[in-house]
Formats: sequence, C-alpha cells, structure tokens
Amino acid sequence: MISGELISHPQEIPLCEQHFLDYAKTRDFGDLHFKIDPKTGMLAIIAIHNTNLGPALGGCRFIEYPDINSAIVDAMRLARGMSYKAASVGLPLGGGKSVIIKPQKNFDRKAYFHAFGKFVEELNGRYITALDSGTELADMDIIYEHTKHVASLSASNGDPSQYTALGVLRGLEAAVQHKFQTESLEGLTVAIQGLGHVGMHLAELLHHRGAKLIVADINPSNVQKAETNLHASSVSTSEIHRVDCDIFSPCALGAILNDNTIAELQAPIIAGAANNQLARSTHGQMLHDRGILLAVDYVINSGGLIFAASQYLQKDMEAVKLKVDGIRDAMLDIFRRSKEQDKPTSVIADQRAYEKIFA
Ligand code: NAD
Repeated sequence: MISGELISHPQEIPLCEQHFLDYAKTRDFGDLHFKIDPKTGMLAIIAIHNTNLGPALGGCRFIEYPDINSAIVDAMRLARGMSYKAASVGLPLGGGKSVIIKPQKNFDRKAYFHAFGKFVEELNGRYITALDSGTELADMDIIYEHTKHVASLSASNGDPSQYTALGVLRGLEAAVQHKFQTESLEGLTVAIQGLGHVGMHLAELLHHRGAKLIVADINPSNVQKAETNLHASSVSTSEIHRVDCDIFSPCALGAILNDNTIAELQAPIIAGAANNQLARSTHGQMLHDRGILLAVDYVINSGGLIFAASQYLQKDMEAVKLKVDGIRDAMLDIFRRSKEQDKPTSVIADQRAYEKIFA
C-alpha cells in the first residue's frame, strides 16, 4: 500500500504549519535538517525522504517563500518526488531536496553558498545537492569548496535537457508501441506545448524520425525556429492541448492536465517533459477512463536526473545513454501493469516506485 496520496499533484499538498509533520509522517519521511547560519543569516532546509536505495540526490532551490513552513513543505514534497523518480528508473539513489530561503533584502550570495556547502558536508554524504530553481553552476562550485557531495559543477559542462528530451522520446516510443503496436513514429502527429530547452530538443528528435509537428510557445521566436527548421505548423498556446494529433507532449507547464483540458484532449497519448502534469490525482483516473494513455511525468522526464546522477556516480556518457534508453522499458512495464490491473498509469507508477523503495 502507498501511504498518503499520489505524488504528482502539488495542489493537494497542505501548506500550513499544523500539517507538515503529519505530511512527513504519512509519507514515510526520513529526516529533516535545518540550518540557521548566524554569520550570514542563511536559513536552509534539507529534506531527506529516503536513503534505502542510496544517498538522497536532489536540487537546491533558492527562491523566495511567503513563510518558512511553505519552504519546508516545498522541500519535503520535492524530496519525495525525487525518491520516486530515482527508484522508477533503477538509480542507486534516494530522494532529497534542499531549499535556501531567498531574502527579500540585500544579502551576500557567495557567503550564503559557502554556509550551505558546510551544511551539506555535515550530513556526510546522506544528501547530494544539485541545480534547481534559482541556483546556478557558479553556486555549485562554491558549495564544492566545502563538500564533494555535489552533482552539478561548471567543470562538468552539463546541460541535462538533451538527456531529458532523449528520455521523453524513449517514453513516447513506448507509448506508441503500447497503444498503436508499432515501433515507428513516421507520419504520427505530435503536438508540443513549449519549445524550451527540452521541447526544442524533443522536436528535433521527432522530426528526424519522420513525425509531423504542431507546436505552441509563448515565445514567437521559438515557434518560428521550429517552423523554419523542422517544418512544424503552429497554433496558439490556448489551442495546443486540443488539436487533432496522435500524441500531446506537454513540455512547458505543470497542472496542464485538469478538468478543463482533459475534456478537450483529442490525443490518445500524452507524453511530455513537464513536471507535475496532473493538477490532481483524480485526473489520472479521468484520463484512464477516457482511454488516454499517460506516460507519467516523473518517469518519462527522468533523463535529466540520470545525467546529473552520472556526474556524481562517475558514469560515462555511454552508460548514461543506456540508462536513458531504459526509460522505454520502465514505461512499457507501467503500461502493461496498468492494462492488467485496469488502473491509471499514475497509480501504477507510484506503486511500482514505492515497491522498489520499501521492498
Ligand atoms: P524551459 O523554461 O527552457 O522551456 C519552457 C518553454 O515553455 C519556454 O520556451 C516557454 O516560452 C514555454 N512556455 C511557457 N508558458 C507556455 C505556455 N503557456 N504555452 C506554451 N509554451 C509555454 O524549460 P525546460 O527546461 O525545457 O523544461 C520544460 C519542462 O520540463 C518544465 O516543466 C521542467 O520542469 C520539466 N523538466 C525539465 C528537465 C530539464 O532537463 N530541463 C528535466 C525534467 C523536467
């Protein structure tokens, strides 16, 4: 049994003080660490969901929060997501996440990251940090002066998005195989929402495999690039989820699968990179009831984590590509179990990861 609800719907997570310890308890949390550095004023939280499969890897967020409790719950929610993501693709890692609360007034950024590096080192390798919203490679380099438990460094020259895109392609191929019983993407139409780091790479990969592209992005230059280079056609951002296509690929926003959009979807497959695509857990069931095959976000977009982990685990790029290719098998396993048990893929993915973590 999975304790607590599914992990892929942020809107259902309570954000108030009286709930966060309950939240920890009902979601099998390991430990929470706090650091208040009197010298710099840095206030940081490291949430370690689980280390059964290995040290807890997860990025460090450096953003403003309305209050400390929101930051704690954010770290916990994300840490749990990392456990499930790593387990779902068989990485020897647990799930963790850290948050440094960004002050509204002036602060010494370098001093903050020096203090944070010492904090990470105190945990003696139980937590490995990496890039996340609001942190840059230069910050990771500072942390590395105090601890070796850092997965992204400027020297490693790592943009994970091409590996994320490759993993999305593998998951998308698995969905096509499961739904249409074909290995080929030739002639299939894919609607891509968002042509950023991942979406554009994915569009290129799909174009080279003979897929037809329909795209939308709030940035017109991205759309123009896809039209010119990849013969894509374009629609407005409010239309992209409801165009007539074989695969809808959300690569921009979270909560894109909600009451309104699910009713309008025409694609029989959803396979994209965006995190937290389901607005609520019930939307997984809604998709299942409509016969729409969802390639669960945290599995299909795990290529970036595989890449980050490889830097820490010292795996070469050949090993990374093989592991990313394995996303296809993970997705096929989820689709098969979903069909056999007549349950949404989102439920099966959570059960499968849970089994791996707590077996
Ligand atoms: P990005 O910021 O580079 O790209 C997002 C793109 O979406 C941008 O081009 C932006 O203009 C566009 N966009 C924003 N709002 C839009 C809207 N309403 N309609 C259409 N387009 C819109 O981000 P990214 O790195 O490509 O990541 C895309 C998604 O994948 C995010 O949800 C991210 O969390 C997730 N993800 C990314 C990685 C990675 O390796 N970069 C790994 C795992 C998950």
